[in-house]
Amino acid sequence: MYGAIEAGGTKFVCAVGNEQFEVVKRVSFPTTTPEETLAQVYQFFDQYNIHAIGIGSFGPIDVNPQSSTYGYILNTPKKGWANYNFLGAVKERYRIPVGWTTDVNIAALSEADRGAGQGMNNVLYLTIGTGIGGGAVINGQLLEGVGHPEMGHIKVQRHPNDHFQGLCPYHHDCLEGMAAGPTIDARLNRKGAEIEQDHEVWGHLAHYLAQAMTNFSMILRPEVIVLGGGVMKSPTLLKQVKQLTVEALGNYIDIPDINQYLVYPKLGDNVGITGGFLFAAEQLEK
Ligand code: ADP
Ligand code: ZN
Repeated sequence: MYGAIEAGGTKFVCAVGNEQFEVVKRVSFPTTTPEETLAQVYQFFDQYNIHAIGIGSFGPIDVNPQSSTYGYILNTPKKGWANYNFLGAVKERYRIPVGWTTDVNIAALSEADRGAGQGMNNVLYLTIGTGIGGGAVINGQLLEGVGHPEMGHIKVQRHPNDHFQGLCPYHHDCLEGMAAGPTIDARLNRKGAEIEQDHEVWGHLAHYLAQAMTNFSMILRPEVIVLGGGVMKSPTLLKQVKQLTVEALGNYIDIPDINQYLVYPKLGDNVGITGGFLFAAEQLEK
């Protein structure tokens, strides 16, 4: 049996799965302090005989096995979690192989294996939610350097009519600072789900997201880009992103039909958990 932990800044999802990577049991609870939250994680997994666990965590996290803080959550504003040895805690409790990577990386793994990128070796997964993050499977492998990619913090060119200052505490008007969900609330004092679809804010978001699609396409040459996260629930945003991306790419590189290239996730609520099982199985093979 495999275990999966999808550790989000707002909520944790834990699940156990069978050899086919199907969910056998799944629980979810709010993210509070590390001690309290991990106590719930243990309470769940203690009931099962699991052979490996895959963790996809909110970040930033240390994924460099050579580093003295490997397995730690790094400089998060989330109270109690900065410099917390998350991987160490789980390993100490279970003494089985534990895979450790970002939430978007495990999502990329599962979409590549059995979701929108099934049968492909080069899949990019992006989430446009409370923050913006990306994970990629390239040549069948998760893409990581000395750290994990920080695809939400790339520089973008401002839309000429958008005077919003940006929300990123580090870069102000980076991609996440200009196009993540909370930027809608901050611009308009209303939630994204409440904004009418002909509002200019969608055009502004599409302007930034299309730049990201263009840059990531040029750098990574994925076969598909899967766009998840709450903001993508806007019924018209993806259409605008597609149009602007096609214009910006300018026929310079070959991409599939744009409707097959920029797509929603296929695995829905199980995208993270399924990736966690797959990642757990990979640890066992190592
Ligand atoms: P998280 O990133 O925390 O995992 P989500 O992916 O659900 O969470 O993203 C939450 C963000 O998505 C919030 O900023 C929320 O306002 C925004 N959001 C949710 N529904 C919509 C919608 N229909 N249109 C635009 N934005 C939305
Ligand atoms: Zn930033």
